[in-house]
Amino acid sequence: MKRVSLFGATGSIGENTVDLLMRAEPNTYDVVAVTGGGNVARLAEQARELNAEIAVTAFDECYDGLKDALAGTGIEVASGAQALCDAADRPCDWTMSAIVGAAGLYPGFAALRQGGTLALANKESLVCAGPLLLAEAKANAATIMPVDSEHSAVFQALVGEDMSAVERIIITASGGPFRDWPLEAIAKATLKEAVAHPNWAMGQRISVDSASMFNKALELIETHEFFGIAPDRIEAVVHPESLVHALVGFQDGALMAHIGPPDMRHAIGYALHWPERAHIPVNRLDLAAIGQLNFSAPDTQKFPALRLARDVMETGGRAGAVFNGAKEAALDLFIAGKVGFLDMARLVETALETCDAADSLSKPLIGLDCVTQADHMARKAVKDAAQDRA
Ligand code: NAD
Ligand code: MG
Repeated sequence: MKRVSLFGATGSIGENTVDLLMRAEPNTYDVVAVTGGGNVARLAEQARELNAEIAVTAFDECYDGLKDALAGTGIEVASGAQALCDAADRPCDWTMSAIVGAAGLYPGFAALRQGGTLALANKESLVCAGPLLLAEAKANAATIMPVDSEHSAVFQALVGEDMSAVERIIITASGGPFRDWPLEAIAKATLKEAVAHPNWAMGQRISVDSASMFNKALELIETHEFFGIAPDRIEAVVHPESLVHALVGFQDGALMAHIGPPDMRHAIGYALHWPERAHIPVNRLDLAAIGQLNFSAPDTQKFPALRLARDVMETGGRAGAVFNGAKEAALDLFIAGKVGFLDMARLVETALETCDAADSLSKPLIGLDCVTQADHMARKAVKDAAQDRA
């Protein structure tokens, strides 16, 4: 049996992964750990359904609730950030990294030390610590499989190809709910409007990031880090239908596109079964019924996150960790109703400048402590800048 663990099991990616595991033939998977946050009722239910060895909540205050919900089952229970890493230390063949935000970094590193496969939905890990993560995978002969629809698509388009023949990588963006809104309206956008994604059902944070295109900004950096391709060879194109997920352009002019329904179970299932392909219960596309696919250039005036991502890729070093930390802090402020929608990009830009002035961002990342330090510095810079504005 394949030993699997799910970090962030109760989230959108986590639930899609559980769905695939529940459909498998009996005795295909042996579930080691499932983890979540505050939704202990659902976490306990998942642990029972999957017959997990251990269930971990990230939050100590949720420990008692989880313990009660699993009383008498024999399933172990733990809580806190260290317990997440300890759970990732257990022998495992395949780990889903679907915690949202920089909190996914340490459990992901711990899982890599098992030498199995890390299915990486947590793009923040690559943005914050790409070179360290890839080095850790190499040192442990572990495999990282991308579980972002775009990056899974690129990975699939590259099967059997040589990276030296790749001219460019194009990732698509739906453009989010504000694609056609004027700038003045976007400035006044509410949280409810921002989470109303036209094509994908996702967690709240990534939904807001999609509306601001910070998600696409993270994905540009993710592409650069994961595929090792120069920033000027990576493009983002707006594609409102979200059916073409990414395209790889080769030196002979060919473009290999990956087309599929907007259903994350495809990318998750691909990572689960790789290097084989297995039946995945996603809708099959009827191209004649779809009729047409549209593409346009993104508007960097309305979505400055894309411009900032280019600077981050050019700078390298700690810029990704600062960018992500600042983005998370600015997103917290927007969700709390303390800053406007467009203030997020302004705060992130200010944080990048402040942190760079304090200590050049281009200095290389030496270890995970360095990532955490940059993350904290970025969050503080956003907080200070927001206070100055208030
Ligand atoms: P979500 O908000 O639905 O779920 C997040 C999960 O992380 C939950 O299980 C939650 O309990 C847990 N969590 C939250 N805070 C935590 C903390 N501090 N410590 C430990 N666990 C914590 O998010 P999601 O949409 O499933 O996204 C998860 C990750 O996958 C993100 O990195 C996101 O960028 C990426 N991703 C998501 C999608 C998608 O379609 N949802 C697509 C591509 C990539
Ligand atoms: Mg994506």
